[in-house]
Amino acid sequence: MALIVQKYGGTSVADPDRIKSVADHIAFTRKHGNDVVVVVSAMGKSTDNLLSLANAVSEVHPGREMDMLLSTGERISMSLLSMALAGIGVEAVSFTGDQVGIITDTIHTKAKILEITGERVRDALSQGKVVVVAGFQGVSTSNEITTLGRGGSDTTAVAIAAALNADVCEIYTDVTGVFSADPRIAPQARKLTRLQFDEMLEMAGVGSKVLALRSVEFARNHNVPIHVRSSFTWEHGTWVSAEKSQGESSMEEPIISGVVNDASESKVTVVGVPDRPGISAALFENLANANINVDMIVQNTSKDGLTDISFTMPKADMKVAEEIVSRVASEIGAQGVTHDSEIAKVSLVGAGMKTSPGIAAKMFRVLADNNINIHMISTSTIRVSVVVSSADMESAVKSLHTAFDLDSGTAYSAPLPERK
Ligand code: ADP
Ligand code: ASP
Ligand code: MG
Repeated sequence: MALIVQKYGGTSVADPDRIKSVADHIAFTRKHGNDVVVVVSAMGKSTDNLLSLANAVSEVHPGREMDMLLSTGERISMSLLSMALAGIGVEAVSFTGDQVGIITDTIHTKAKILEITGERVRDALSQGKVVVVAGFQGVSTSNEITTLGRGGSDTTAVAIAAALNADVCEIYTDVTGVFSADPRIAPQARKLTRLQFDEMLEMAGVGSKVLALRSVEFARNHNVPIHVRSSFTWEHGTWVSAEKSQGESSMEEPIISGVVNDASESKVTVVGVPDRPGISAALFENLANANINVDMIVQNTSKDGLTDISFTMPKADMKVAEEIVSRVASEIGAQGVTHDSEIAKVSLVGAGMKTSPGIAAKMFRVLADNNINIHMISTSTIRVSVVVSSADMESAVKSLHTAFDLDSGTAYSAPLPERK
């Protein structure tokens, strides 16, 4: 008998029919003799709707209250799914993150899981029940409800799988697996059969939304195999594991494995900064203290003792960052601050890049030939990322995908459900 953790994302539980079909699949898994722990996301776009409600009532959003609000989305789906299971004769019990002992740090709205005690999950499993856990949430070491950051239900699922030593963590979503690019943007993307943790880590790290970065970190650190698959077609998807890739559709053989796009960041530029020691430290220490994750940083060469510093950071943190950056800018005597939220990061990822010179040059040539202007560049040993205008994102992804021979030759054909 295997222990399977199944995670269902927002589109997979978006309405009563979807919830019923998920319940049927859980019953089917159970009938095959497996123990099942289910992790659910909030229905459809409900987390976005809760965020809009918060914006509608106030400009001030204390972290504690945001988490009290945002954690409710997942509680709705966990109880509805448990009812749907009861309706077809499957004994199930739902729990919040708090109830199953998902202990986190105290950073509201982007808490990190420190430990999972999991007592109640083990008890319920030993009573033969299906356990349904609300994703994306936990309880802090100060005994407050926390949430894990957008996409955090993936992390809940993999962390529970690790804590229970599950055989597999199945991530059910609205595409049929992990592709060489977001199939919604590049329909010619290929589905990858198998990829290694490190490759998936790099893709998630530059913003591929299909798996949350921290879930992949957990999977790698605890060696939990992940199977990303569709809750619409139920076909076999992509295995992410420690095993070496095999076959044509693996991500290891080609120099470039995939193209990743991320439109979730904004660019901030501090203009006319005095060029002297300690300026960057002052700026970025303050952002770090507010738990703001700065991504790319570019400092121009100085002219007349003044320079510009640009960096990218999550749009979601812009409100908090704006205050900090304006304050620091005036403290250090900078001339001003500008923002650009109409940007996107496009990255080429591939382990083979290490030993293949000229990838960045080819990337820039392809973008130039498509008349796409590059705002910022950053590289790692197995990645090249550029920031472009968001209007150019789609054409950048498609043209790079084709130029680096990643096209499958067939347009993506599995159903892409309407996003609610
Ligand atoms: P869920 O609500 O199930 O967690 P998400 O929207 O978070 O779903 O993640 C699934 C989405 O990730 C897909 O609909 C797809 O548009 C996007 N995506 C981005 N990059 C990729 C990729 N390389 N392969 C597959 N899907 C991707
Ligand atoms: N509901 C949360 C979100 O929309 C968590 C998740 O879906 O993984 O980000
Ligand atoms: Mg997700």
